[in-house]
Amino acid sequence: MVVRVSRFTDPHTPVEDRYECYECSAGVVAGEFPGPCPDCGSRVRNIAVPWE
Ligand SMILES: [Zn+2]
Repeated sequence: MVVRVSRFTDPHTPVEDRYECYECSAGVVAGEFPGPCPDCGSRVRNIAVPWE
């Protein structure tokens, strides 16, 4: 199941299942890697992993 979200400002959104599109910055919340962006088809990255 993939649920699109507009922004990652909701404090109730689980951190561990969030992805963001490289191209259009569309936010995706999914229980597993969602694959291509639902908007533009570009790659998405898991933003749950802390970036050093
Ligand atoms: Zn996109």
